[in-house]
Amino acid sequence: MDLKSKIREINDFPKEGISFKDITTLLKDGEAFKCAVDKIIEDLKEKDVDIIVGPEARGFLMGTPVAYGLGVGFVPVRKPGKLPGETAKFEYDLEYGTDSLEIHKDAIKPGQRVAIVDDLLATGGTMGATAKLIEKLGGEVVAMEFLIELEFLNGREKLNDYHVNSLIKY
Ligand code: AMP
Repeated sequence: MDLKSKIREINDFPKEGISFKDITTLLKDGEAFKCAVDKIIEDLKEKDVDIIVGPEARGFLMGTPVAYGLGVGFVPVRKPGKLPGETAKFEYDLEYGTDSLEIHKDAIKPGQRVAIVDDLLATGGTMGATAKLIEKLGGEVVAMEFLIELEFLNGREKLNDYHVNSLIKY
């Protein structure tokens, strides 16, 4: 299946110069959604994954069906102040300023094999920060899975210690 044809590109959203990759057009197509999830599951088959982590918010959409398919649990990574329990936090740099992400401290046990699933790899900042959070809790990041990769932003270089897989490339 041509998954790329299911992505809608919206120019100048959320600001001028950005070509936004809208995954809602893929998600609402049952065949395409299943195909994408199955391909990620296939890439993780030999990785002996214990748990899936997905960053807010589109990482939830792609990560939970992958976890269900593998028969493992799902752990959300969220923007500050959203998770009710005790959290670990990682702050990372943006082009201007900083951002941070949180995870429940008891969500990952030391030694667990973790795969992170997100919708899109741009600069790699979000994925890098998510990996740091998992490692802070003693988890081992065995794979990073994306529906889409913006290759021209070279995010993959930031993640070169990891197994990185993407299904659709721009
Ligand atoms: P980054 O941390 O730079 O790799 O950015 C990753 C997150 O930003 C992704 O999870 C996307 O949800 C969002 N994002 C960045 N660029 C785009 C884009 N061109 N279209 C859609 N989402 C984007």
